[in-house]
Amino acid sequence: MPRPEFQKNWAALGAGWLLLLLVAPLCLRAEGQAGNFDGERAFADLKHLVDYGPRPSGSAALGEERQWIEGQLKQTGAQVEEDAFTASTPAGEIPMANIIAKFPGTQSHIVMVAGHYDTKRFSNFRFVGANDGGSSAALLLELARELKGRKHDLTYWLVFFDGEEAVRTEWEGDDNTYGSRHMVEKLSSNGELGRIAAMILVDMIGDSHLVVRRNAESTGWLVDTVFNAAHRLGYSRYFPDERWGTVDDHIPFVNAGVSSVDIICFDPNDGYWHTAKDTLSHCSAESLTIVGNVVLATLADLEKSPHIH
Ligand SMILES: [Zn+2]
Repeated sequence: MPRPEFQKNWAALGAGWLLLLLVAPLCLRAEGQAGNFDGERAFADLKHLVDYGPRPSGSAALGEERQWIEGQLKQTGAQVEEDAFTASTPAGEIPMANIIAKFPGTQSHIVMVAGHYDTKRFSNFRFVGANDGGSSAALLLELARELKGRKHDLTYWLVFFDGEEAVRTEWEGDDNTYGSRHMVEKLSSNGELGRIAAMILVDMIGDSHLVVRRNAESTGWLVDTVFNAAHRLGYSRYFPDERWGTVDDHIPFVNAGVSSVDIICFDPNDGYWHTAKDTLSHCSAESLTIVGNVVLATLADLEKSPHIH
């Protein structure tokens, strides 16, 4: 008897519709905010970065890239800082610089989204690092534009790390993560490290065959936050529930007790990692869109996360 049931519950139904009318625009807006990342524009940035050629730490090309990135960031209205330092490496002292774009919120808690913008140095072939070094920087640049004018309570820092790559051979000892280690040391000494509520690292996420696994070295609740957002957005096939271990720029933060997650598409057997084949042809705007949307949705979720407040 649907009619009596309806009549009996008309008030509740009416209240329900009212609630729906009130909530629907909020949901639509939230979904729109989480799904608007412009991967095409990020891909255009990626192309621009690759055009600088090889960009190892201390090179003139990386200096030019840095100037361009900072110019782009300033156009978003962010507070842009360059933190220059000298790194002691197996190849001697190398000047490096992290770039930090700050978007102050009403709260002092900081969510950092970071990636590296240097490319690994190779003397025997030309390495332009489209995915490895380029894609993370391109995603952060577009993220800065997306954050412009967006209402948020948490404070956001977008950080471009220099010196992620090992100078000598492959990942050995301290010959890696120069920029992220420098930042942890600096924030420890000036007392700001405790303000970092979450650190989201992106690396090699431009890969056109995007597969991001649950990073084993990352913080559990933050991995869950990222994967819940990815699955909610319909990206389960790109974010499978599989564990994978990778050390990266988040490790110094993990070791310092900062909740961190590495969003990385890493398969050393893909045939092009750290080779001359790491070019635009292996990257796609779609992958940048997917990861960009996941980061935006994660930021929205962190605004109401009990792990932060
Ligand atoms: Zn690399």
